[in-house]
Amino acid sequence: MQIIRTIEEMQRLARGLGRKGTVGLVPTMGALHEGHLSLVRRARSECDAVVATIFVNPLQFGANEDLDKYPRTFESDCEQLEREQVDLLFAPAPEEMYRSGATTIVDVGAIGTRLDGASRPGHFVGVATVVAKLFHIAMPDRAYFGQKDAAQLAVIRQMARDLNFPLEVVACPIVRDEDGLALSSRNRYLSREARGAALILPRTLVALAEKIRGGIRDSGVLKDSQMRLLEGARDFELDYLAIVDPDTLLPVAEALPGTLIAIAGTVGGTRLIDNFIVG
Ligand code: AMP
Repeated sequence: MQIIRTIEEMQRLARGLGRKGTVGLVPTMGALHEGHLSLVRRARSECDAVVATIFVNPLQFGANEDLDKYPRTFESDCEQLEREQVDLLFAPAPEEMYRSGATTIVDVGAIGTRLDGASRPGHFVGVATVVAKLFHIAMPDRAYFGQKDAAQLAVIRQMARDLNFPLEVVACPIVRDEDGLALSSRNRYLSREARGAALILPRTLVALAEKIRGGIRDSGVLKDSQMRLLEGARDFELDYLAIVDPDTLLPVAEALPGTLIAIAGTVGGTRLIDNFIVG
């Protein structure tokens, strides 16, 4: 696996790869876990060449968020990507990605202000901007993203469509720990107690899935059925419980097949998200 630090070299190598076959891109912020690796494996199985990226994107972090303490485990990330037979790892410095004097940003509009975009103003402008840049830099035929970040996926799909990127956005299923908690680089922040409290996220989703299987479809009724538990939960602060269209992120009246049910909240100072698509 070759590690590339500059945009110029990455573009030169990407052009070469593109001439030989299909290129799959897996953008990450590092601190890799099995969730990231599932994207890499999917890309490996579907593309001739795989490009992974590790970049903790300052533009998508709010002023009071965890940019400085975000986990950075570059050495072990490289070992894992090497094992998965990634061809190129693009890992630029922030100054390389955002050269001085750069002013252009990508704003996807209203969709970027929904769900996490509502509680993290500017977050999805940061995401859309960096992903658009990575698309131009790696020139992939397919780009792999996790369903775990469902709102991010909707934003990226919107951006790729609106800006005519000639590529397919591929969504990959959420990888969970044995106890049901969705894997996340931020799980490293959790104390033992906080990790226990965090299980309220997947448990709420499981409870809602059961209710839907039992025939309850009304979004208001479904949300009300969990609210008291969520609001009364110890060591947990609910951000949102949303029943929405997965493409627009707008609320829907009924949870029908394909509906996105998403939850976000803070446990011991760490913001976590989770979701499922109604089957
Ligand atoms: P991040 O490094 O957190 O920006 O994530 C990089 C990519 O990995 C994103 O497309 C995420 O949606 C995806 N991802 C993160 N956690 C998981 C998970 N538990 N299961 C599947 N994909 C994930």
